[in-house]
Amino acid sequence: MNIEKDKVVTFHYHLTDTAGEVIDSSRESEPLTVLFGHGTIIPGLEAGMAGHKTGDRFDVSVAAADAYGERREDFTQRVPKKYFRDADHLKPGDSTVLGVQGGGHRPVTVIKVGSSVVDVDLNHPLAGKALMFNVEITDVRDASAEELEHGHVHGPGGHHH
Ligand code: ZN
Repeated sequence: MNIEKDKVVTFHYHLTDTAGEVIDSSRESEPLTVLFGHGTIIPGLEAGMAGHKTGDRFDVSVAAADAYGERREDFTQRVPKKYFRDADHLKPGDSTVLGVQGGGHRPVTVIKVGSSVVDVDLNHPLAGKALMFNVEITDVRDASAEELEHGHVHGPGGHHH
């Protein structure tokens, strides 16, 4: 069965930057399971996986624009310390998360720490980086009608509800 929209795909990935530095890997834990074609993974990786099948192992190189986007130079914000869980321990260069409206979290990088505010860079930590994925497809199956309706995977590697 080949990977296409509305398939449930399980895969291992090993992610490095163009210098070979490891950014993330599923190899130490469970593979990732996604409902393919629903924007769960970055567009460049999705394009590189389409058409492959179980057992395939291949490299996908993704330009920054098709990964987490280009870096925006002036994408910074001054935020009151109370919005950080770990404000008293922050220093320039640290990565942390900022609570956002609606209850989500956004990864940010600390630029400067003042007495009551923190200047942060809102660019995604991987913005502006070309990414190299080594992918191994471990399973491809049809999505159930319920999974398609919910827009996510159920069972192992997915939602349990
Ligand atoms: Zn569901």
